[in-house]
Amino acid sequence: MDIKKIQEILKDEPKFRIKQVYEAVFAKFIEDWDEATNLPLALREKLKAECSLAIPAEVLLAADKKTVKAAIDLGDGKVETVLMRHGDNHNTVCVSSQIGCLLGCEFCLTGQGGFTRSLNFYEIVEQVLFFARYLKTLPGRGGHPSQEGTERVSNIVFMGMGEPLLNYDEVMKAVRFFNDQETFNIGARKISISTVGIIDGIKKLSNEPLQINLALSLHAPDDELRQQIMPVAKNNPLKSLLKAVKSYIDRTNRKVMIEYLMLDKVNDSSAQAQRLADLLKANLEKLFMVNLISYNETQKFRTSPDAVINNFKKILEREGVEVVQRFKFGRDVQGACGQLTKNRKHRA
Ligand code: SAH
Ligand code: SF4
Repeated sequence: MDIKKIQEILKDEPKFRIKQVYEAVFAKFIEDWDEATNLPLALREKLKAECSLAIPAEVLLAADKKTVKAAIDLGDGKVETVLMRHGDNHNTVCVSSQIGCLLGCEFCLTGQGGFTRSLNFYEIVEQVLFFARYLKTLPGRGGHPSQEGTERVSNIVFMGMGEPLLNYDEVMKAVRFFNDQETFNIGARKISISTVGIIDGIKKLSNEPLQINLALSLHAPDDELRQQIMPVAKNNPLKSLLKAVKSYIDRTNRKVMIEYLMLDKVNDSSAQAQRLADLLKANLEKLFMVNLISYNETQKFRTSPDAVINNFKKILEREGVEVVQRFKFGRDVQGACGQLTKNRKHRA
């Protein structure tokens, strides 16, 4: 599918016509131009001849039937994206912002697989569009025939492959597109960006008028350990990083999520929990919470045992820090956090 081509063909059409096409493609999620019956036949035929709506992808459904991974073929590489259907009527799409990642975090399969390129705005939009179409074909949650086709993408998280703040302009263009009432109409508060901690990007984001959510992948309570497991931390030391996050909180009044992977015997001791609580309270003061993420094992690290995670959590709570634990989704289709890669050969 080539969204740019659609825009080119429409450039001399009247505004209302462009609106109709956008509505058909990005709000009604048509898969064939023949479904756009409100367009004049000549335009429909032209679009049909020149702009395929097909999104070629390999799809894997997890055993829980709630997680679906799609590897979309972009010609020069594949981009992986994941749909998570939560029990409470939420359909969250985890989108990628780059093919691969430049930053090489030790624990992340994406980071270990190298980097191809950043995605453009269309290629980010396409990932959500793919799942919007998929959801439209499902029977509705209550199973009643009248509910067929009512399932929508409710939330978007930039937690797939790549570092969104190193592809800032295209990511923000996509965010505004998702938020647009005439297309996906997904509230900014339902859109989250997860960053490894790029200080300049966080500063830029503080000045955006949108009420999106920010998540910071912290994963260590001190610079020394952080630099060992996340090379990019060398250029983004904790003091300046947390200062940028604090000013983001002050400007936007939005609660920031601090992501913390539980890596066995690496960052999960009682002393490290205490250090983390002290660090966050001293630097952020308010409007933050910690998300303890159970690690999806790759080659290098093991996940902390449940008892260790509970102990870590208790220490944070005792210190008055709000803590949540991330659900485990889609490990069997290699669709969980840190398991996405451009280098996979899927079996048909
Ligand atoms: N580059 C961004 C966003 C993509 S990664 C970032 O680093 O934040 C999304 C989240 O998955 C990050 O918090 C990342 O640290 C985490 N992650 C990476 N590898 C993981 C793994 N193997 N198991 C669980 N989470 C992982
Ligand atoms: Fe890149 Fe994020 Fe993976 Fe680090 S954790 S390598 S920044 S995708």
